[in-house]
Amino acid sequence: MEDRLFRTAMGKFATGVTVITTKVGENLHGMTANAFMSVSLNPKLVLISIGEKANMNQLIKESGKFAVSVLNESQQDLSAYFAGQIKEERNVKFDTFNEMPVIKDALVNLTCNVHESVIAGDHTLYIGEVTDLRVEDGEPLGFFEGKYKKVV
Ligand code: FAD
Ligand code: NAD
Repeated sequence: MEDRLFRTAMGKFATGVTVITTKVGENLHGMTANAFMSVSLNPKLVLISIGEKANMNQLIKESGKFAVSVLNESQQDLSAYFAGQIKEERNVKFDTFNEMPVIKDALVNLTCNVHESVIAGDHTLYIGEVTDLRVEDGEPLGFFEGKYKKVV
């Protein structure tokens, strides 16, 4: 099967967009991800899927922690930036929540400790136990057929 056909098919599944963040010592790092899901209510678990070549993968392995920020409709530029699609180095000012870097004004900020990780092909699935979260009102940034979409 062609990679392009697989991506086209997966792109038909409309999602929101998140920025995953972590820190190792003073090194803060962010990466755009739409592979995010809620897993369990008791305990509170979520899942993210990180490509093996992503810098984020090594950093989460080292820190054992990550945060998820669910982007709002006005944060498309941040999504493109943290996907490496804007070729300029910015001095990003993260917000701090539960001692973790997060994206300010996102619809949700949540922090996790890695509960379990599973290597799945060329990605690693990180199941995180949620240690704290906060929620803001607003409209989400959507992603469908490889493009950003308004959800409402
Ligand atoms: P890098 O390329 O190292 O970093 C990304 C960008 O953020 C760079 O420009 C870097 O300079 C900047 N940056 C990071 N931290 C800081 C900081 N502290 N200060 C200033 N700048 C900083 N990949 C997946 O593995 N899983 C997914 O679920 C996923 N979903 C995606 C969804 C969308 C909508 C898009 C557009 C991309 C998605 N990707 C996903 C691809 C992923 O975002 C990119 O491949 C990403 O560049 C790889 O992450 P990295 O850790 O290597 O990031
Ligand atoms: P696209 O058409 O490549 O993506 C459509 C869908 O395909 C995505 O929503 C995702 O579900 C799936 N997908 C894409 N690349 C994948 C990968 N390497 N592994 C597993 N699933 C993947 O959309 P686009 O706008 O061209 O994407 C921009 C860049 O971000 C591309 O380089 C793409 O590979 C990457 N991306 C990676 C993932 C991921 O690793 N899970 C998810 C989305 C986008």
